[in-house]
Amino acid sequence: MARLRESRLRILVTGGAGFLGSHLIDRLLAEGHDVLCVDNLFTGSKQNIEHLNLHPRFEFMRHDVTFPLYVEVDEIYNLACPASPFHYQHDPVQTTKTSVHGAINMLGLAKRLRCRILQASTSEVYGDPAQHPQTESYWGNVNPIGPRSCYDEGKRCAETLFFDYHRQHDLQIKVARIFNTYGPRMHHADGRVVSNFVVQALKGDPLTIYGDGQQSRSFCYVDDLIDGLIRLMRSDDSVTGPVNLGNPEEFTIKELAEKIISRTGAASGLIRSPSPVDDPMQRRPDISLAGSLLGWRPEVRLDDGLDRTIAYFRSRMDEILAI
Ligand code: NAD
Ligand code: UDP
Ligand code: UDP
Repeated sequence: MARLRESRLRILVTGGAGFLGSHLIDRLLAEGHDVLCVDNLFTGSKQNIEHLNLHPRFEFMRHDVTFPLYVEVDEIYNLACPASPFHYQHDPVQTTKTSVHGAINMLGLAKRLRCRILQASTSEVYGDPAQHPQTESYWGNVNPIGPRSCYDEGKRCAETLFFDYHRQHDLQIKVARIFNTYGPRMHHADGRVVSNFVVQALKGDPLTIYGDGQQSRSFCYVDDLIDGLIRLMRSDDSVTGPVNLGNPEEFTIKELAEKIISRTGAASGLIRSPSPVDDPMQRRPDISLAGSLLGWRPEVRLDDGLDRTIAYFRSRMDEILAI
């Protein structure tokens, strides 16, 4: 049974100026909480939170989580970390520092405040998975020294830290393993497949398929994901996770490209590019645990979510073309 937490809380969201963080903040403010957004604006932007500038219960602090942070809050969502391969490989050392030092600092903060802390972990902890679909008990197939390792191993070490603070310091932790999520406010140039394809289609450019396009992913619409994160944070004390959050409907990248061409009405074709190093071949979450523990499952179908995402990028095309 989920706890009833009706009181007004002061909630810290690290990475709050990013794609997921800004949607999470919208939801928390709408529920009546006070939100402190901490972000160094590496991949996030003030534009994602500019509609909150005058909100009386919202505060923004520009800060890098690899440095200590002394604030007073009741709950912490730790989302700070570049999330797309293009961005996290740009400065891989900083990516590992953000995951590991960032986790230590946020866990130290939670320990001092004796408050709950949720970690935005990732399906990348499963690497190029040998088990399909992936359950939380699968330990993964991860290259420790490749170009994706700064992110994958950084997030794995962060999970280790979360569980050690839980066992050693009795901290209340919640670990969400997030699978590919998409929607409005994705960075238009972060190289992720949905934003790349939608922007390419709206420009009338060919869509870039890496490899043969037979690799698969399962795409979760942002509103569903945020609902899962909030349910996990509010779950019983005994629930630590890790819990998979994602949409189990699986598509090949070629199918996704064809869908986006048809839904934008673009005249674009497809072009092939080489496959990135260590690109996982398939990925689909087993979400039985999220169903039984949180009563959660995604509601938004890919076609509907893509339509909302296309409408967002369409409304920003002039600005994107001018950059
Ligand atoms: P995003 O890049 O839009 O947001 C990340 C935010 O963290 C940005 O605003 C960025 O400026 C900030 N940030 C980065 N390094 C920081 C640092 N050192 N200090 C303070 N802020 C910092 O990405 P997103 O998609 O919103 O991802 C949010 C979280 O969810 C990340 O931790 C990511 O690993 C995780 N996640 C996302 C997905 C997805 O599909 N979107 C999947 C799995 C996991
Ligand atoms: N920390 C922080 N804010 C706090 C408390 C701690 O940023 O309110 C950081 C601090 O930099 C510390 C880290 O969290 O190094 C880990 O804290 P912990 O108490 O676990 O370890 P210690 O302080 O003993 O190194
Ligand atoms: N991808 C692609 N064309 C693009 C961008 C990505 O074919 O323009 C592929 C990529 O190789 C991967 C999948 O789409 O197989 C998802 O890539 P993304 O970077 O969005 O996420 P991740 O690899 O982290 O799941």
